[in-house]
Amino acid sequence: MVGAAAALALADDGHSVTVVEAGPGYSDDVSDSWDLRISSVHQANVDWLQQLGVWAAITPAKWFPYQQLSVRSSNGVQVDFAASEVAASALGAMVENLSLQQALWQQLAQHPRVTLLAQQRIEQLDSPQQRLRIGDQWYDYDLVIGADGANSQVAQLAGIGMRGWDYDMTCLLAIARTEQPVPAATWEVFRPCGPYALLPLGAQQVCLIDYRSQQQWQTLPTDAQVTAELAAVFTAHIGAFTVSQHGRFPIRRQRALSYHAYDSVVLIGDAAHSIHPLAGQGVNLGFADVQELQQQLREQTTLASALAHYERQRVAANQRMMRAMDAIHVGFSSQHVLPQLVVDTGLQLLKRTPWLKQQIIRQAMGG
Ligand SMILES: Cc1cc2nc3c(=O)[nH]c(=O)nc-3n(C[C@H](O)[C@H](O)[C@H](O)COP(=O)(O)OP(=O)(O)OC[C@H]3O[C@@H](n4cnc5c(N)ncnc54)[C@H](O)[C@@H]3O)c2cc1C
Repeated sequence: MVGAAAALALADDGHSVTVVEAGPGYSDDVSDSWDLRISSVHQANVDWLQQLGVWAAITPAKWFPYQQLSVRSSNGVQVDFAASEVAASALGAMVENLSLQQALWQQLAQHPRVTLLAQQRIEQLDSPQQRLRIGDQWYDYDLVIGADGANSQVAQLAGIGMRGWDYDMTCLLAIARTEQPVPAATWEVFRPCGPYALLPLGAQQVCLIDYRSQQQWQTLPTDAQVTAELAAVFTAHIGAFTVSQHGRFPIRRQRALSYHAYDSVVLIGDAAHSIHPLAGQGVNLGFADVQELQQQLREQTTLASALAHYERQRVAANQRMMRAMDAIHVGFSSQHVLPQLVVDTGLQLLKRTPWLKQQIIRQAMGG
C-alpha cells in the first residue's frame, strides 16, 4: 500500500518510477465479503488519497467512514471522541487493504511515467554503482525506495540493520454480521490480558479484534471455540452476530537502524518501522513517510540532503508514535493500581477538558 502510494505521488511529481512487486499486483477479482486485513485510515490521509485520485477508485462497498472513536479503561472509565466536536463529518474511514491496493494499482497501471513489474524481486543491489538486478536484467537507478514491508529485502541488500521484539501478543481478527445495526463508531476496551475492539464496516458488518497472548489463543484451537469466545466478549456490546471468517496475526515492534543508505536507498512504511496496531496507525505512518519524502525531494537540491532531512523528520515522528503505543500497551493493560489510576485519572480529566479532547480528535484525524 505504502510503496504503491509513493510510486503514484512521485510519478505525479514528474519522476519516472518502476514498481517491483513480489506479489501479483493488480487483480480484477473483487469478492463481495470483506477480507480480514482492514486499515483505519485517518481523515487527512483519506483526503490525500482522494487528491491522488485513488480514493474514488476504491470499490464503494469496501470502505466505510466512521464518526466516533471511544476508549474504555479496564475499570470502565470511557471517553468518546466525535467528529462533530470539531465540526467534521468523519474521523476517517475503514478500508479493506486489498481494495485500497487494487485502487492504487489501477491508478499506477494508467500512469504514463510508471512501469509495473509484478511477481518480481530485486536480486542484487550494486549500491556504489547505483544499479540493481531483476532476473537477468540490470537497471540503473537514482533512488531505490524500500517499501517491501517488515521483512524488507531492500534493507537487507543495503545492509540496513533492524532492532525489534515480539510483544508476545496475537491479534485475532474476525469479520462478522450483526443482527442489529451498529453505529459508525470504532471503540476499544482495555483489559489486563490485552484490548478488544470493533471496527465498523457497514450498518451490520463489523471487524472484531481481540488481543491476547499466543498461549491464551492456543487454548482455543477450534473455530467453534473461537466463535464462542468472541460471543462471550462482544455480545454485550453489539448483540447477536455471525462470524464469517477469522485469523490471527502476531504483533511485533521493529525499526530500521537507519532510514537511508548510500544516498540512494531509502526505507518507508513497515520496511522502516512496524508498530503495535492497537491504535491503527501503521499505514497512516507509512503514508506520512511518503508525504515527507515527496516534500523533501521537491525542496532539497541534492538527493543526499533530501534523504537526510526525510530521516530526521520521520524518525522523530515514528519513534514518538512507537513510544506512545508502548505506553498505552503497558499503562492500559497493567494490573497494578498506580498505572490504572494514572490512566483513569487521565481519561476523567479528558472528559472534563473539551479543548484537550478537541486537540486529540484533530490528531486522530491526522491534523
Ligand atoms: C493485525 C493488524 C492490524 C492492523 N491494522 C491497522 C489499521 O487499522 N490501521 C493502520 O494504519 N495500520 C494497521 N496495521 C498496520 C498496517 O497493516 C501496516 O503498517 C501496513 O500494511 C504497512 O504497509 P506497507 O506497504 O509498508 O507494507 P506491507 O503492507 O507489508 O506491503 C509490502 C509490499 O511489498 C511486497 N514485497 C514484500 N517483499 C518484497 C520483495 N522482496 N520484493 C518486492 N516486493 C515485496 C509485498 O508483496 C507487499 O505488496 C495493522 C497491522 C496488523 C498486523
